[in-house]
Amino acid sequence: MADTTDWTELLERVRACTACAATLPLDPKPILSASPTARLLITSQAPGRRAHDAGRTFADASGDRLRAWLGLTRDVFYDSSRIAIIPMGMCYPGTQKGGGDVPPAARCSATWHAPLFAHLSQVRLTLLVGRIAQLRYLPNPRGSVSEAVTHWRCCLPTYVPLPHPSWRTLGWARRNPWFEGEMLPELRARIADLLRSDGS
Ligand code: SF4
Repeated sequence: MADTTDWTELLERVRACTACAATLPLDPKPILSASPTARLLITSQAPGRRAHDAGRTFADASGDRLRAWLGLTRDVFYDSSRIAIIPMGMCYPGTQKGGGDVPPAARCSATWHAPLFAHLSQVRLTLLVGRIAQLRYLPNPRGSVSEAVTHWRCCLPTYVPLPHPSWRTLGWARRNPWFEGEMLPELRARIADLLRSDGS
């Protein structure tokens, strides 16, 4: 059983982290949602500006799309006792020329993921949302997000790769109808099953 005192101290240290202060566009504001009892882990890219302002991961249209993909209500999605959400970079990284957010600082996952994940012993499935999380954790990350998601069964039951749920994914989803027609129904069933189970 995880030591909840250590967990609380660790969360305090993460939330007080200012290691990237010199390179972030705004003050550091690490955003994560997690508890040692979580059964599902979502490792995504980094908070967007709306998530930064709200102090909550996926507090935007992308979050609405991700919740719809996974068949989760907002209450369940943000229930840290059941679902952990830990981005590759926990602070808003700013936007880059040409659109999109700056990639998360590699130091964030390098510094914090191992100690955080060490407490998540009840996690039975990890969703890798976007290329950066897939490159870091998939044993065989493939050439692109599309290729990784096409071969999504490769790393079951531990990992499932997903595209980032931004509007940019809509065209890709239309060209790949198996994503919404086959993959997501099976993924929703897996998630419902693991959230229902008692951890034994
Ligand atoms: S991005 Fe991560 S490492 Fe950088 S300041 Fe935020 S919590 Fe710390």
